[in-house]
Amino acid sequence: MRIDMVSEHASPLAALGGADAGGQNVQVAELATGLARRGHDVVVHTRRDSPTLPARVRTGEGFTVHHVTAGPAEPIPKDDLLPHVDAFAAQLAETWAGAPPDLVHAHFWMSGLAAQLGAARLDVPVVQTFHALGRVKRREQGAKDTSPPQRVELEAQIACGADRVIATCTDEVGELAEMGVPPERTAILPCGIDLDRFLPAAPRRPRSGPARVLSIGRLVERKGVDVMIRAMRDIPDAQLLIAGGPPESEWADDPEVNRLQAVARQAGVAERTAFLGQVPHDEAPDLYRSVDVVASVPWYEPFGTVPLEAMACGVPVVVSAVGGHLDTVVDRRTGLHVPPHDPAALARAVRELLEGPGLRAELGTAGAHRVRSRYGWDRLVAEAEDIYHQVRSARAERAAVAAAPGGEAP
Ligand code: UDP
Repeated sequence: MRIDMVSEHASPLAALGGADAGGQNVQVAELATGLARRGHDVVVHTRRDSPTLPARVRTGEGFTVHHVTAGPAEPIPKDDLLPHVDAFAAQLAETWAGAPPDLVHAHFWMSGLAAQLGAARLDVPVVQTFHALGRVKRREQGAKDTSPPQRVELEAQIACGADRVIATCTDEVGELAEMGVPPERTAILPCGIDLDRFLPAAPRRPRSGPARVLSIGRLVERKGVDVMIRAMRDIPDAQLLIAGGPPESEWADDPEVNRLQAVARQAGVAERTAFLGQVPHDEAPDLYRSVDVVASVPWYEPFGTVPLEAMACGVPVVVSAVGGHLDTVVDRRTGLHVPPHDPAALARAVRELLEGPGLRAELGTAGAHRVRSRYGWDRLVAEAEDIYHQVRSARAERAAVAAAPGGEAP
């Protein structure tokens, strides 16, 4: 198949850990790589955010990245991109008019909007993955939600206009149902993990020095990094490593880094808290393997790649019992659940792991097994391919019914 992905703000070529570059970038890159490996012709359309980028880049992984000119060729926060969606969609329409793909898979709501507008005159199925839903963000972040006000309403329209909506977890299927998407038009496809790179150290050597707890991800408030910093008050002698955010040269001007550093000072744990800045994704496996526990306690989480990466490396995790974590981390079998926003419960869970080498090893082993058996890309790419085939057959059936004598337009 010729499969075109649309990932307007999240380029598969971007460095990770910045405010708008995280799991979606990894997932799009891995899905594109896996599909290309299975012989599909894959193009990822993403917004040009620098004038020096070539129009098309053929990656070493066998897929093509198309840099679409829509708005100024400079980084723009994703919440300010809506005014440029029409220009993006027009470019897609022009590209697809001559050579339409067999299927389009859009990632994030604005990509869905652009994809459906771009494919409007073509008989091309459009599959949608939201990665995050505006209604959840609005509920959890309230006035701090910087999404465009139209997002929630547009997402419902995008969901209803797509041939299939792919949720990343069970919790999202419930949200989609409340948005009016019938269950027969949803499918679940979790995000996957690169099992060749994220794997346990063998053997895992005991380390000397203080115990190390890792928080890794984009430094945005809803990720709950401040909760982990506050929890450190009740985890004596341990060190907290915080990976993500801008490089050190930009910390002075970064409000979130400043806020978190102030939280660490107020909690009296600044000297046990190390900010590492953005860690190259290639170095993430070694970082995971160098710590005793990984904590990921966002307020809400559409999927959550970080706990799976940690589990794949055999490192026990403590996660907030929200969203995708409810599917991926089995409480007390492959990790520990805590309520979000609760430093005391988080401290208790981390301490239980740090004080229990047996439990640590047990959860680490079970976690690695769970990721290997369920979240490898080979398996998930094959599942994506199945969904694409189903969607194309359903469209072909509808077209056949419509073309039959007495048939109705679908
Ligand atoms: N990441 C990274 N370096 C950093 C911070 C994050 O490589 O400095 C990666 C991390 O390994 C994971 C992704 O960014 O693959 C974060 O994905 P997740 O789904 O946990 O969160 P999102 O950013 O999508 O909200």
